[in-house]
Amino acid sequence: MNYLKFKTMDCKHKYEHRDTVSYWYYCGRNNKEFVSTSFYFCIKCCHEKEVTKRVSAFPSEEYSIPDWAKAISFHRKDLDANNY
Ligand SMILES: [Zn+2]
Repeated sequence: MNYLKFKTMDCKHKYEHRDTVSYWYYCGRNNKEFVSTSFYFCIKCCHEKEVTKRVSAFPSEEYSIPDWAKAISFHRKDLDANNY
């Protein structure tokens, strides 16, 4: 157990991409929040990490959002702001 822990801490992690989850939702009346979370694991010690990118935009700003956000089509309606 301790040995494993030491190995993990000592590991020069070599991460491989495992999965990416992307979606958008309304964070206000009009503006959308785009979220993309990528999951990585270390092929040596199996340590996992995730990196989340998010950007929000009003309709008039959507032309200027990054390409990774433009590519997102999955609408998480369960996350929509519904207090309007
Ligand atoms: Zn590692």
